[in-house]
Amino acid sequence: MFSYPPIDEEILALLRDREEFIVIGHISPDGDCLSSQMAMNSMLLKMGKTVHMANAGPFDRSEISHLRSDFLNHIDDELKQRDPLVVVVDCSSPERIGHLADEIGGLTTVVFDHHSSGEQFGTYRYIVPRSVSTTLIIMQLYKALDVEISQEIAEHLFFGFATDSGFFRFINAYRGETLRLVAELVDLGVSPNVMNDRMTGGKSFGYIKYLGKLIDRSESLLDGKVMVSSSWLEDSKQYITTDKPSDSLYTMLLSVQGVEVVLFFKELEGGRTEVGFRSSHQSSINVGALAESFGGGGHKKAAGATVNKPIKETRKLLLEAVEKMLKA
Ligand code: 5GP
Ligand code: MN
Repeated sequence: MFSYPPIDEEILALLRDREEFIVIGHISPDGDCLSSQMAMNSMLLKMGKTVHMANAGPFDRSEISHLRSDFLNHIDDELKQRDPLVVVVDCSSPERIGHLADEIGGLTTVVFDHHSSGEQFGTYRYIVPRSVSTTLIIMQLYKALDVEISQEIAEHLFFGFATDSGFFRFINAYRGETLRLVAELVDLGVSPNVMNDRMTGGKSFGYIKYLGKLIDRSESLLDGKVMVSSSWLEDSKQYITTDKPSDSLYTMLLSVQGVEVVLFFKELEGGRTEVGFRSSHQSSINVGALAESFGGGGHKKAAGATVNKPIKETRKLLLEAVEKMLKA
């Protein structure tokens, strides 16, 4: 049975002793990242600290755009000179911090993360790849530092868990400890029902049409083992494309009999391509490692990368790489 390793006393002492903090998450923040930042922020505020949240963004997805003003986009020199402790959450490599990585150079940094691929960075680290979400790692901190979890904080902790576990779908056998942590959150007043609405509801009709288009465009390749779909720059004229279609798209394409890998290509300005990767529960393909070989990263079953090549070329290279992995 899995249990979370103890957090180094050195890390706990830093969090107890320092007065000012910057809490940073990854670029294009998702639910786990933002919830982790907010839960960390609340914990430090409860401990009487001065806290700044920072994120390089963008915050243009409709479900997170209202949060933009809570996050700094730059660390100014005045703040940096006060030598705050930097806490980085949900980031597997310094590049994932975006332009903020340069701005925190020289500051003591503690990283809390659950990615299995990536590069070790930061002065101190508490990395638990088996944790379903980074928020459940932050929950360990609340316990270790004996800070009370309010209903609002419990909702942040649950939300990150819900987004990264596909609302309980990606949890494996013998992971009762995860459900026990979540049960604690429900007992603190979190309604999974309300959380599900928050996670999946509120979409525009245009978004649903876009999702339909992406499904319509999907192709089954390599003997049905791979499904791909693409989004083009022109789509933004016709559809609302700022909301990530990925999650529902991946769920549908992965549900096709025999599919091991789903690739989603999004054409970006400047001849670059964003790639989303998923592999099925039964597949032995580690898409985190695959994404890493294209300059990205993530987990065994879910990963992403941005490739500095046009969409057609990126697609060709990736299909070749997947074909090789399927034959191995
Ligand atoms: P999503 O497809 O939901 O954006 O990302 C799936 C997983 O892959 C997340 O855990 C995310 O952190 C990771 N990921 C997505 N894009 C990138 C990327 O460009 N670089 C790295 N290192 N990880 C990524
Ligand atoms: Mn995460």
